[in-house]
Amino acid sequence: MKKLAVFGSTGSIGTQTLDIVRQNPDKFSVIALTADKNVDLMEKQVREFKPRYVCMNSFGAAKDLRTKLADTDVTVYEGLFGLADCASVPDVDTVVMAIVGMVGIHPTIAAIKSGKDVALANKETLVTAGHIIMPLVKEYGVRLLPVDSEHSAIFQSLQGLNYGFASVADGNAAIRNLILTASGGPFRGMTLEQMKNKKKEDALKHPNWNMGAKITVDSATMVNKGLEMMEAGWLFGVKADQIQVVVHPQSILHSAVEFTDGAVIGQMGCPDMRLPILYALTYPDRIPLNTERLDFTKLSAMTFEKPDETNFPALALARRAMETGGSLPTVFNAANEYLVSKFLEDEIGFLDIARIIELVMNVHMMHNFIPNPTVPEILQVQKDIEAITLVAIAEKF
Ligand code: NDP
Repeated sequence: MKKLAVFGSTGSIGTQTLDIVRQNPDKFSVIALTADKNVDLMEKQVREFKPRYVCMNSFGAAKDLRTKLADTDVTVYEGLFGLADCASVPDVDTVVMAIVGMVGIHPTIAAIKSGKDVALANKETLVTAGHIIMPLVKEYGVRLLPVDSEHSAIFQSLQGLNYGFASVADGNAAIRNLILTASGGPFRGMTLEQMKNKKKEDALKHPNWNMGAKITVDSATMVNKGLEMMEAGWLFGVKADQIQVVVHPQSILHSAVEFTDGAVIGQMGCPDMRLPILYALTYPDRIPLNTERLDFTKLSAMTFEKPDETNFPALALARRAMETGGSLPTVFNAANEYLVSKFLEDEIGFLDIARIIELVMNVHMMHNFIPNPTVPEILQVQKDIEAITLVAIAEKF
């Protein structure tokens, strides 16, 4: 019986994680759940999964939840300290980190320092603080298991090759390239003119995956693939020029590894996030999943193309952030988080996202670059970038 703390339990990854628990009550139990504001769903989850601890980051939501759950003995924490408490509960084995955004940094660090394995969906944490997280993973001897489907595919492709977990994270001479597949999102093949007036309703229609709003917009801009490049760099110890992004609209090959002898090993399957979540929870074993099966006789085609970096400039910006390192990945990510929230509120246009990310990256490099930022510095850069981004929007730069 593996004991879980599920962070972001009311979101897309969180609810799918709980679906896996529901399907396997003899294998998993839930000790802690966290969310931000969604009190109604959290109440339902508490009554079904009976965790001992809950945290709502929003103080008002925590107060409401305490009232709703007055007939239970669950402890309801609140705010960032409450999240850290839920990450450090003594008898939790694995923390599923499926909060969205940089707010995941502190609880991820708290989980690692308490000796928990972390099944990591929250890519923003590794992108901005990978240089802090990866040494901590080593120091505390825990496992950081990828949940992102591409990184899980790479991780799965590296099994059975006599590479221990640690040697993969350290980088391995036998790996030549990682092949990171991308669906291309809902605007694949469009010109800038065609994307100019796209609204959130258009961007939220992902062709293959049903995900939270922020990552769905990130897929439309290709920011998501940029974040994933940086995430892969930290997880597998590779440089930007060892990661080849390939657009594969059918989302069947979830990513692959090219070895120095020319072999390419990848992982395929129907798009269902529960598979990489389950693998992170059962690694190194596999257990059955009630999911759609891949039938090759019904596949019309599997196609691959080069990403269009002219009309989707976020990918090149991410590569620049990765190669530069230091505080620049935080700038890329923080500007994007803020701009996506504004796009979802219909305050900016779709093309403004990549355009303003580039602008604030340039401003940051001129005045404020930090080569090796600490966590407080990362969070300060986030605040500063939000302020600069707000000005850029208001002044219509
Ligand atoms: P969702 O938006 O669906 O869910 C986000 C979860 O985080 C919710 O439980 C939400 O709570 C909680 N949350 C949001 N803001 C805060 C905050 N400030 N403090 C505490 N909790 C917060 O996101 P996804 O599940 O789509 O994505 C989660 C992470 O996983 C992201 O980093 C994403 O990039 C990554 N990921 C997602 C994939 C997917 O298929 N969805 C695939 C691969 C990676 P509430 O409901 O109360 O707002």
